[in-house]
Amino acid sequence: MPEALYHLEAARSDDQRAYMEDLEERGICVFCPEHQRAEIDFETDSFYVTHNAWPYRGTREHWLIVPKEHVRAFDELPDESGAELWAIRRRLKERAAAEATATVERSGDMRYNGGSVAHLHIHFVVLEPSPAKTVRFRVSAWGPE
Ligand SMILES: [Zn+2]
Repeated sequence: MPEALYHLEAARSDDQRAYMEDLEERGICVFCPEHQRAEIDFETDSFYVTHNAWPYRGTREHWLIVPKEHVRAFDELPDESGAELWAIRRRLKERAAAEATATVERSGDMRYNGGSVAHLHIHFVVLEPSPAKTVRFRVSAWGPE
């Protein structure tokens, strides 16, 4: 059996879970360039950038920075990709005239890192002084609070 593409327990709604189940059954990775359907904001040699289809409440902007290659962990990419990622973040920060940002990147086994899609993707959000809701990212498996 191939490794799972999605971690269904990490779905944040029934709609999202059903969507993920369907893709898993069909073996479709939503972040691989040939399957992703979100509008591409811009791309570089190693990454493409889109707005998150399910932005976290409380963020002013929520981008996903996605490697074009299907990798599960940051260290599967060369150091040059890390420099590219930094430049992308700088570009997005400047475009949004952001006073504050946050970057969340879950890497490796989804059963441990709280992620929902195996394909590595970097969340980059713009924050404000009075958010509609406190922005929280889960970065581990479920455990006692
Ligand atoms: Zn993929």
